[in-house]
Amino acid sequence: MTTKQAPSTLQKMGLDSPMALALHLPSRYEDETELLTIEEAIAQGRFASAQTQGVVIRNQVLFRPRRQMIVTIEDETETLNLRFLNFYPSQQKQMAVGVHVRVRGEVRDGFQGSEMVHPNVRAVAPDAPLPNSLTPVYPASVGVSQTVIRKAVTQALRDPSLQESLAEFLPKKLMAELLPSNDWPSLQSAITYLHQPPADANTQSLLERTHPAWRRVQFEELLAQQISLKRAHAIRRERNAPSFAKVQEEGKDKTREQSFEESLLKVLPFKLTNAQDRVWSEISRDLSKSFPMNRLLQGDVGSGKTVVAALSAARVMDHGYQAAIMAPTEILAEQHYLKMKEWFEPLGVKIAWLSGSLKAKEKRLAQEVIENGQAQLIIGTHALIQESVSFAKLGLAVIDEQHRFGVRQRLEIQQRVGSELFYCHQLMMSATPIPRTLAMTYYADLDVSVIDELPPGRKPIATKVVKASRRDEVIGGLQSWLSKGLQAYWVCPLIEESEALQLQTATESFEQLTQALPDFKVGLVHGRLKAEEKAAVMAAFKANEIQLLVATTVIEVGVDVPNAALMVIEHAERFGYAQIHQLRGRVGRGAVDSVCILMYAEPLSMAAKERLQTLRETSDGFVIAERDLSLRGPGELLGAKQSGDAMLRFVDLQRDAWLIELAQQAADRLLAEHADLVERHLERWLGSRAEFLKA
Ligand code: ADP
Ligand code: MG
Repeated sequence: MTTKQAPSTLQKMGLDSPMALALHLPSRYEDETELLTIEEAIAQGRFASAQTQGVVIRNQVLFRPRRQMIVTIEDETETLNLRFLNFYPSQQKQMAVGVHVRVRGEVRDGFQGSEMVHPNVRAVAPDAPLPNSLTPVYPASVGVSQTVIRKAVTQALRDPSLQESLAEFLPKKLMAELLPSNDWPSLQSAITYLHQPPADANTQSLLERTHPAWRRVQFEELLAQQISLKRAHAIRRERNAPSFAKVQEEGKDKTREQSFEESLLKVLPFKLTNAQDRVWSEISRDLSKSFPMNRLLQGDVGSGKTVVAALSAARVMDHGYQAAIMAPTEILAEQHYLKMKEWFEPLGVKIAWLSGSLKAKEKRLAQEVIENGQAQLIIGTHALIQESVSFAKLGLAVIDEQHRFGVRQRLEIQQRVGSELFYCHQLMMSATPIPRTLAMTYYADLDVSVIDELPPGRKPIATKVVKASRRDEVIGGLQSWLSKGLQAYWVCPLIEESEALQLQTATESFEQLTQALPDFKVGLVHGRLKAEEKAAVMAAFKANEIQLLVATTVIEVGVDVPNAALMVIEHAERFGYAQIHQLRGRVGRGAVDSVCILMYAEPLSMAAKERLQTLRETSDGFVIAERDLSLRGPGELLGAKQSGDAMLRFVDLQRDAWLIELAQQAADRLLAEHADLVERHLERWLGSRAEFLKA
């Protein structure tokens, strides 16, 4: 029966070809190559797995202290008990008196002498041969046993087509030049070695994945990635995009006295920081090229990315093209909408708003002006990349908090341009810095501009970590804070399991705080509110008609109220690094000293404790992102979670950073000197996944 089910289960795991099976590499190994006598196994003691064998001389089921089976085996040196706390009748039969069994497990001292608890047991003849390689243990999934995977892999390794798939084609000369002391095996022998390491293999380096066989595989995987990134880079440069150089004086259509760009700089109530100036000139240079920009604007929360996006939009509109700004949440998109209206409407710019919550008629109207070109600036959520949207003349797409979008969604925007002939420029924005290793791998075709300076007058945020049992004290402090004419946020946590429960806690806190602070107006904003209701609450908060804003994580990004310089986060232990960093960035924007209070409920896990400590000690986005990366892996930072594809299977970006550089050099040489081999290598490693790397 199992053999019938096996193929489909393997297929579900993606193990549907000899190559896929060959690349399904073990996560660890078991040593079944050595057989000890029972005496030797006992002498070896605990904490080391031992393999031994003997004849069953007794098999009893005891009922005290609980139901269990004790099997005693014996060889010419000693006896050993095998103890099973859970067992099936079939196991009783398998280990009947007189049967010869081979067992593997840890020996420890039991009440009735030396014993193994739940050992691996196989009935074999005393002279059954031992394997001469370590036994691989594979990543598995429910419903598929190691035996099934092992069998399938062994078969795959013997498949004649595999010889072809794994054939060596990286030029020897190139490898020798790149790796002066190259002790790496060929790809084929590396793969075979990793599946069937000899008994004397260095198991530690196999486990740590630093063995030359692993290095070979990792190098090839990185090479494929580097090649496809470099190719994407070259392909982008061959594409056409409208070029937007700075227009002099009046707008290009000559109907205005001044360009939008100049006018915007004039109406801004502040001067750009040096960092903003620098990144704007980098973006400006990209926009003036005739191939599409692919740039990430990175700057910590509050560093002033929005105005740079606005300048980019102004430049594009000066040339009679449309600009779009897309944000991952309705609130954030709305903040942009309000800001852009404030800046651009006085200049006569026609702005369209498009979000999922619009009524059908409003939506159609918005789509109409986007399509007929009346709308010059378009702001919205994911709704911008839906089928029904098509832009008349999109010159620039700005994607805020880009890591919250999937790779696929970033590809989508291009399709909405509706033209094969030209591509729009893309500006991604993020407050989450990309660690260097990630920048070199996943983001290699992305140019990065960094705003590394906050606008003047910002005060550092003092972060305090407080037990939830001191809630009354916190509310007392809040009272005196609000009495000074200042405002504050009270953030309630996301409750993944239940939106209703999340709403309930927020409502409870809202009611409690309303009672406790009768002299002040307390507001509540959460995800269930209609867009207009949300906007009304936010506007009232901005106008200081509401002093304390109780909110669920909907305010995570985008709110900008400088007078609100205190934030209390309830159940801070439930938030991740990036979330708190983002939330905390909502304060510290005005002239007053800002405070963030992280309230936590006990018991606190080790991880949560470390997280809160780090957040208290630093507000450096880079440090926080590094911690986050080592904790969660690159998937979530990349938005790869949404795309469902982790690109690197065998490489650990932190452990193998040095390999990336090597692969980069090899990719350059291969593209320059051996273009014919490039396709083959990509096909082998990426197959259908290559598309993702172009985003
Ligand atoms: P973020 O990078 O987090 O998106 P914003 O663009 O929302 O940051 O800017 C945060 C705040 O700083 C806003 O109130 C914005 O008006 C203000 N700001 C931006 N640039 C400057 C500047 N050069 N001088 C003073 N204030 C600025
Ligand atoms: Mg922002």
